[in-house]
Amino acid sequence: MVDRGYYWNKFSLQWARCTAQPYVRYADQAAERDGEPMTQVTDHGGGVHSIKVPIPDNPLGHTLVHVLDTDRGPVLIDTGWDDPEAWDTLTDGLAATGVDIGDIHGVVITHHHPDHHGLSGQVREASGAWIAMHAADTAIVRRTRESRPGTWLAYLSAKLSAVGAPEEHLAPLRAAAAERGRMRTLPGLRAALPDREIVPGELLGLAGRKLRAIWTPGHTPGHVCLHLEEEHPRNLPGRGRLFSGDHLLPGISPHIGLYEGPDDATVTDPLGDYLDSLERIGRLGVAEVLPAHQYAFADAAGRVQELLDHHEERLTGLLELLAAPLTPWQLAERMEWNRPWAQIPHGSRSIAVSEAEAHLRRLVKLGRAEAVAGSEPVTYIAV
Ligand SMILES: [Zn+2]
Ligand SMILES: [Zn+2]
Repeated sequence: MVDRGYYWNKFSLQWARCTAQPYVRYADQAAERDGEPMTQVTDHGGGVHSIKVPIPDNPLGHTLVHVLDTDRGPVLIDTGWDDPEAWDTLTDGLAATGVDIGDIHGVVITHHHPDHHGLSGQVREASGAWIAMHAADTAIVRRTRESRPGTWLAYLSAKLSAVGAPEEHLAPLRAAAAERGRMRTLPGLRAALPDREIVPGELLGLAGRKLRAIWTPGHTPGHVCLHLEEEHPRNLPGRGRLFSGDHLLPGISPHIGLYEGPDDATVTDPLGDYLDSLERIGRLGVAEVLPAHQYAFADAAGRVQELLDHHEERLTGLLELLAAPLTPWQLAERMEWNRPWAQIPHGSRSIAVSEAEAHLRRLVKLGRAEAVAGSEPVTYIAV
């Protein structure tokens, strides 16, 4: 039995990173197109099904777990949140397609977030399936499993302090870190360690299928999309189908924050990575996108362009704000979110600041903004 309260405490930050709560376009939050039936299982044709696996207490609603038939047995793409109701929905959904959970041959994970990777351990226990993930995200799973309770919170409060977070934001984080620091271990609920590596550009070696891994860093450093390079079963024009994970969704702009953690301080440019990966995905010319949330859609290139335009507009808007020097925290306070800053809850503010920092990184890399020398906490200004 899962203690949900505990679970949420442990993963709330990680989860918020996944769902981009400050950034979700809520017009689409029902995640249903008009008239689309609320079926739990959808047959997409050509040996591909999707199952709507619920995410407890979250406006995003569900993860679409895809089931791909292969000559060696069914393979899952993502698994869903680790929760009893999610597990029951997954196993019932599989049963409705004639698959017993024990028959699952393998699990391909688009990225390490718990609404995708959460149930992997239970699937492996029930079936002996292998679990494949990109090495960069596997490294995060390993670090999370090995890190001491409280480490992440202590790291986060120090980091937020350095970018100008006020004391009222830091105090609860410090208190939580100290409380966790007294715990010896976090009981249970450890994400499964993958036992196979997804190698970018290569076919996954699934019997009778052509599924190619495309590395799409940005939302996480090891996010992958999976290109099913087979003719579309309904002959839609284009090159096959794309399992897009959280990288390309029809009505949500995925959260792009920073990759850094307590054990990895490498300075990266996640927004730059994301925009590059988007352009590459746009050029694939796929017939249909099968995302991990919301619904399947056809116009991948059009959606990519919308997202590129959205980020360009946002970067331009930030430059106007940076006419005077601002800390990343002050910038986040002034950015446009889906609700006024005063109404954004504590956890989501931390996420919003990491998104502001990702945008600052991009502007600095493009030579459009710079850190003000000697400022502490650090401030940035447009150049
Ligand atoms: Zn995610
Ligand atoms: Zn997700």
